[in-house]
Amino acid sequence: MAHIISLTNQKGGVGKTTTSVNLSVSLAVSEVKTLLIDLDPQFNATTGIEELLIEPKGNIYDALIRGTASKDVVTKTKLEHLDIVTSTSDLVGAEVELVSIMAREHQLKKVLKPLLKKYDYILIDCPPSLGLLTLNALTCSDAVIIPIQCEYYALEGLGQLLNTIRLVQKNLNPDLEIEGVLLTMYDGRLNLSKQVAEEVRSYFEDKTFKTVIHRNVSLSEAPSFGKPALLYDANSTGAQNYMSLVEEILKDGN
Ligand code: ADP
Ligand code: MG
Repeated sequence: MAHIISLTNQKGGVGKTTTSVNLSVSLAVSEVKTLLIDLDPQFNATTGIEELLIEPKGNIYDALIRGTASKDVVTKTKLEHLDIVTSTSDLVGAEVELVSIMAREHQLKKVLKPLLKKYDYILIDCPPSLGLLTLNALTCSDAVIIPIQCEYYALEGLGQLLNTIRLVQKNLNPDLEIEGVLLTMYDGRLNLSKQVAEEVRSYFEDKTFKTVIHRNVSLSEAPSFGKPALLYDANSTGAQNYMSLVEEILKDGN
């Protein structure tokens, strides 16, 4: 049965999509069967991996709102162990359209149910909000990874996120756990990065991943070629950091 992880933080630009894409790819090349779900109407994960897609199928909007069968929205990739459910700008409407659907927070759970046996990991790239799409992700997930950018105001808004997670645990999904907090865009030359890292580690203690994702140009360039960092520049610090993260997750997890 798949272990489902949501990449979430209602702040934009903290590394959710970069982590979703590169973590999925690193899991897949480690021969772990992985499904990446792009749940953001800005569909950056979809375009960030576009070069790898084989005959794109339906998308997450089709499955959530139009009732398309789950198997018909899974797109294969050139990596044997990686599939993706793509996103589309139509998903903007889903936040509103979900409101009138019965069991509206459970729609994604229903979509994923027939797919659980096929994968070891399912990663969900969440939109930068705490709306119904993110609630759907948290309701069906076993755990969340919270990327935190090593910048000013890094911890701002985290209280709200943790509160949402607690509400979901209480009302929708008692099994939801925090898999870990991930420090992203770390720059070892900057005191600020070190300070933020220290602050996050003292706040989240053992919930902070040992692996830190450094600020790295390959991670920001790769998406414009529709590729993950590992296939753009395998030796780059960014690609290597995400391989270390996979090691850490697999060691602690299974
Ligand atoms: P989110 O999904 O949280 O909005 P993204 O993953 O899209 O954040 O990252 C925001 C921007 O920062 C993107 O342009 C991305 O390429 C860039 N970026 C993310 N992580 C890194 C990193 N470790 N080093 C350099 N650039 C990064
Ligand atoms: Mg994103």
